[in-house]
Amino acid sequence: MPDQPSPLEAKIRRLIALAGPMPVAEFMGLCLGDRDHGYYTTQEALGAAGDFITAPEISQMFGELIGLWAAAVWHRMGSPANVRLVELGPGRATMIQDMLRAAHVMPEFRNALAVHLVETSPVLIQRQKQTLANHDVSIVWHDALSDVPDGPAIIVANEFFDAMPIHQAVKQEDGWRERVVGIDASGALAFGLGADALKFFEQTLPANVRAAPIGAIYEWRGDAQALEVGRRVVRGGGAALIIDYGHVTSDVGDTLQAVRAHRKSDPLAAPGLTDVTAHVDFQALGLAAESIGARIHGPIEQAALLRRLGIEQRAANLKKVAPPDKAAAIDAALVRLMAGGPTGMGTMFKAIGLSAPQLATLPGFDG
Ligand code: SAH
Repeated sequence: MPDQPSPLEAKIRRLIALAGPMPVAEFMGLCLGDRDHGYYTTQEALGAAGDFITAPEISQMFGELIGLWAAAVWHRMGSPANVRLVELGPGRATMIQDMLRAAHVMPEFRNALAVHLVETSPVLIQRQKQTLANHDVSIVWHDALSDVPDGPAIIVANEFFDAMPIHQAVKQEDGWRERVVGIDASGALAFGLGADALKFFEQTLPANVRAAPIGAIYEWRGDAQALEVGRRVVRGGGAALIIDYGHVTSDVGDTLQAVRAHRKSDPLAAPGLTDVTAHVDFQALGLAAESIGARIHGPIEQAALLRRLGIEQRAANLKKVAPPDKAAAIDAALVRLMAGGPTGMGTMFKAIGLSAPQLATLPGFDG
């Protein structure tokens, strides 16, 4: 007996029956954001008990250093009396809580900031409200960055862009065709190809992608989020720090992946019950922000950013005041955040800074 389809799979099958196979981007958007059955709409995904662990969930050091980064940026902005500290996709609010703790020792910065959280998941908004219940700074929630009032802003986003839907195209003899999700002869959800080659597509691709062999997969995201972040930092004279896993140059490769209970799973299995993400193309993200006038810093590896922001010193200081049984956990967290190699967080994750053009350098990026 096959498993019962998840409620979202039933909906996706109805949509395909009505309108035909759907682009991967539409499928991914439904998997994560469907208002009734989407993964982020219904699940508290993160943390040791959830499906995956993010850097701020590994150690308080991560958010604290990002808090110091924000304070240093605020100084470089000329210490404006009011600054919006914006986080995109705050998850369980662990990072912003650690940032605010770090900001506590800098009263001028703390008094200047108002927190704006951009979050679409009702489950996670509830969790964020619980986490932040005892804070005395102003905290406002928004559905989209475009709803945050204009003005000087410092924007941070960790593992946010990987959750933005990607399109995929597959190179064929007659050009690139969009990859779609349909139903195969056995009745299962399956990947397929759009009926026609994408028009005016090849010319928009970087040379290395154009030269790819038949069968190669190219991924791209809509630019709306990157453009809005760029617009904000340019208009408000501020900066953004985006950290995520991905590649620094646009290239071919299928990076669509699903994770459930800390294990990789099939992106087409159990839609709505698994986390479906894809690598961030930092070159494309940077080009989009640059096109609207933002200055780009990096991308650099997460390990390089954290080292320059002083994570080793921070770990040593924490160990001095920690009970002996906690010291090993601090060391383990440090190793995990900084780890190199193809699967290590320190190298797989990259950080890119976007700023107003007048900010020539950003902390952590200037060596
Ligand atoms: N930054 C957190 C959580 C990462 S998970 C951490 O590092 O632990 C991705 C987060 O983005 C979740 O909070 C999810 O609900 C949110 N999210 C996903 N799509 C979104 C969208 N379109 N707009 C706003 N938030 C979104």
